[in-house]
Amino acid sequence: MPELPEVETIVRAIRPALVGRRITGFEASWPRQVQPSVDAVRAALLGRRVQAVSRRGKYVVLELGGGAGLLVHLKMSGRLCVAEGHGQERPQHQRAVLRLSGGAPLRFYDARKFGRLRFAPELAAALSGLGPEPLDPALGPARFHAMLSARRRQLKPLLLDQSFLAGLGNIYTDEALFRARLHPRRSSAGLDARQARALLAAIRAVLLQAIACAGTSLDWIYPGGRMQARLRVYGREGEPCPRCRAPLRAQAVGQRTAHFCPRCQPAPRSRA
Ligand SMILES: [Zn+2]
Repeated sequence: MPELPEVETIVRAIRPALVGRRITGFEASWPRQVQPSVDAVRAALLGRRVQAVSRRGKYVVLELGGGAGLLVHLKMSGRLCVAEGHGQERPQHQRAVLRLSGGAPLRFYDARKFGRLRFAPELAAALSGLGPEPLDPALGPARFHAMLSARRRQLKPLLLDQSFLAGLGNIYTDEALFRARLHPRRSSAGLDARQARALLAAIRAVLLQAIACAGTSLDWIYPGGRMQARLRVYGREGEPCPRCRAPLRAQAVGQRTAHFCPRCQPAPRSRA
């Protein structure tokens, strides 16, 4: 699933072709992906101008003025591109098209159909359930430490929780915890100020590196990224730790699989 760096890369790619254009049409072939409904979204969009294209967490946000916007969540296999034709994409996977004045349309492809497009009359309200952006300078180490201390959860599922911090998924939580030398099952409440600072710094470092690499491409779903060659633990179970050479491990934590070094990231003595 695309995470913050992949969504950021997509936003940067489509932004120049969208900003300033007026919406002249909207069609969707899989109505369940469109909220509140295809007709309602079309009625809300027609005639509006795209004022900005931004990212919040894992959402692509088309800002339409007056606080309204179109939210796109790519989920497992969604893709967005601005093009006259289908190019490399499979025409049968196109689920929605946003037509624009004086330019190519925005096309939404989604083989597995988990992605969502949603018109939000009030973007601020629609996005209010999301936690802070990890790269927001307003999120300082002291506040991050307080956020961690206020929750008593294992670090891996907590960092995946979008209401805690917006934008991280399975890959970058594993990479950040490895860099901060923290076991994925450690309790958030047990971290001291130095560890919280190290974790925030690790999250930022891995996200910035991934953005610079245009994200991670591990399969056909998200092409064009170069970060996969720089991942240190994700998907590398059994390989030697790049720091200490101990074999990396993969283990279920909550509902997800965590990849980590059992030596560099010592397990907590008791389950939190
Ligand atoms: Zn190690």
